[in-house]
Amino acid sequence: MSRYLKLVGRALRLVCPVCGRGPLFKGLFRMHETCSHCGLKFEREPGFFLGSIYINYGITAITSLVTYFILFFANVLTDTQNMAVLVAIVILLPILLHRHARSLWLGFDQWQDPRPGEE
Ligand SMILES: [Zn+2]
Repeated sequence: MSRYLKLVGRALRLVCPVCGRGPLFKGLFRMHETCSHCGLKFEREPGFFLGSIYINYGITAITSLVTYFILFFANVLTDTQNMAVLVAIVILLPILLHRHARSLWLGFDQWQDPRPGEE
């Protein structure tokens, strides 16, 4: 298995990118500071997770754009109903994606700038 797929798999399972064992989150939105298995400090520097906003924003923008065109061409809802669906997507999707966006960002960082001890 390529290293890239291994890191994506760890990100999707919300576990440490270095060892693949320690969970990243201790609640819905709260992260552990370090990996319980290998001791990796997840937040590399202050503001590190700002990068995850790009992932979250990109997925939300693409999803809402595709949904807009589907709703527009399906033409089964009124304009107000279409707007309600789109507003719900742009509010709820970033909340639902929060954990995976952070995890994918952490995996991307490990892929591009590896920290030692990767198993
Ligand atoms: Zn770890």
